[in-house]
Amino acid sequence: MTELQGKVHNVVVIGSGPAGWTAAIYLGRANVDPIVFCGVQIGGQLTTTTEVENFPGFPEGRDGPELMADMETQAKRYGTHVVYDEITSVDFSQRPFTLNYNGGALKAHSIIICTGASPRLLGLPGEKIFWNRGVHTCAVCDGAFYRNKVVAVVGGGDSAMEEASYLAKLASKVFVIHRRGEFRASRIMAERVLNNPKIEIVWHSAVDDVLGDTTGKFPKVTALRVKNLQNGELKEIVTDAMFTAIGHLPNSKFLGGQIAVDDSGYIVVGEGQQTTVEGVFAAGDIHDHVYRQAITAAGYGCKAALEVERYLVREGIGVAV
Ligand code: FAD
Ligand code: NAP
Repeated sequence: MTELQGKVHNVVVIGSGPAGWTAAIYLGRANVDPIVFCGVQIGGQLTTTTEVENFPGFPEGRDGPELMADMETQAKRYGTHVVYDEITSVDFSQRPFTLNYNGGALKAHSIIICTGASPRLLGLPGEKIFWNRGVHTCAVCDGAFYRNKVVAVVGGGDSAMEEASYLAKLASKVFVIHRRGEFRASRIMAERVLNNPKIEIVWHSAVDDVLGDTTGKFPKVTALRVKNLQNGELKEIVTDAMFTAIGHLPNSKFLGGQIAVDDSGYIVVGEGQQTTVEGVFAAGDIHDHVYRQAITAAGYGCKAALEVERYLVREGIGVAV
């Protein structure tokens, strides 16, 4: 690691999901010599899924881990230096910026934070067994696998309403399982769900576990065991899938409050992916809690990379052409 520590780098990209690799591809091709810190989830969230059917350019769909491995190869092809370590803390109070990682510390003129967000899970044993085989966290990503089937959505916020409304267009029936007797969601979103004849609400209830068949080639969800929180009764809801929509946790804690984040921990970005510290940019699910797609994350990564190039030129920091 000493070669990393002896100089001030033009730019460090933190995170190796679609946002991070896209930023690196653009920066590498522009001779900016980017460094990518991969973090513990090399390739990001898409490495936890099987088929990605909505990333353009792959008419037959693409295996998530393979897609991410290709992005890494493409970034390396243009000279990206990849570090398989995570950033543990930062110092943005002085220029150049300092990034601390398990193997040491390095200095950089600019930073792109692409650390993503992790979907909150219920912590049930069945969630692990049926992950991606009936247990999902993104209807736009995986809803199409349940055309004309029965699905259940867990949660009572705007995300749960959005997921339920989306799934109702594909599935034959949608259950919404919520732990209280009223939705947290905005009235308009909640009404859309309450008025949809395909959607049945299961109030005051929590999923006790995910049930299914594990004897075949792939595990398959068959039902949810659901507990009524008012009287403790357990019942089974027959369903082909469970979509949890109980919020996301943005991976911004390691920043130690040195740039502005919103109440939920998402980084606040302005024009050109700029954070509240000049020279520090953010891209992808770490700031975008609305779209949360691989293609949008990649798009933000591209924007941030182009802005870094402009920033380095403005600052008079030489970039070989
Ligand atoms: P992420 O992919 O979340 O990557 C974050 C990166 O940051 C990781 O590499 C992580 O290791 C790294 N990191 C975190 N903290 C640190 C740190 N301190 N130091 C260094 N690195 C760090 N979207 C679609 O468009 N189509 C789909 O079909 C689809 N399917 C999905 C299926 C599943 C199961 C999930 C969970 C998501 C799916 N998504 C899909 C959403 C998509 O994966 C995300 O929108 C996208 O990955 C976000 O990209 P990102 O680069 O912002 O962050
Ligand atoms: P959220 O508003 O925090 O709602 C999370 C929901 O999950 C709540 O109903 C909560 O129940 C439930 N929940 C949390 N932990 C749970 C657990 N362990 N078990 C069971 N249920 C649990 O999150 P969100 O829906 O993802 O929305 C996040 C933000 O994005 C919000 O500000 C929202 O308005 C916004 N958003 C907007 C739109 C839109 O306008 N189109 C779409 C999506 C999201 P309780 O209600 O009992 O706490």
